[in-house]
Amino acid sequence: MAVRKVLKLGDPHLREVAPALDPGEIGTSAFQCLITDMVDTLHDYGGIGLAAPQIGELVRVAIIEIPAGSTRYGELKPMPLTVFVNPRVEVLNPETAGYWEGCLSVPGLRGYVERPQHIRVAYTTTGQQNVELELKGFAATVFQHEFDHLDGKLFVDRLVDTERFSFEDEYERYHL
Ligand code: ZN
Repeated sequence: MAVRKVLKLGDPHLREVAPALDPGEIGTSAFQCLITDMVDTLHDYGGIGLAAPQIGELVRVAIIEIPAGSTRYGELKPMPLTVFVNPRVEVLNPETAGYWEGCLSVPGLRGYVERPQHIRVAYTTTGQQNVELELKGFAATVFQHEFDHLDGKLFVDRLVDTERFSFEDEYERYHL
């Protein structure tokens, strides 16, 4: 299909609250095309998560894929490619942990953000199943980062300490 352009910080479309996807659209060729484009874009940009509004599609759809082995976020527990349609999130334990987050819409920058580390997610699959999934640790952080995109929020809104907000070179030099 196609690698799409990822909208960047400052684009007002990233700040809109996305409406739910009509479940009747799941399985249509337009929906398949959206998912394929999102996966192609995620792979081309080398990210681990992407929300539909980041490619200018204002619907509540996000994908996450955490590859096995090390990534630019260090050694991580892998997560197979998962498509979340109309996800909802419930915090099971409000205790937070922090990660240096990045975003394809905020290229080249890293910021330290704290989020709850144990959540339950309910969503519809591409097979129109309604399922629940518990996520812990980094996967919980990645999901909440993507979920924020559906509500027009970016990780820069949640920086713990703006004085440490860094370009990647400076992050590696001073904060790693
Ligand atoms: Zn992002």
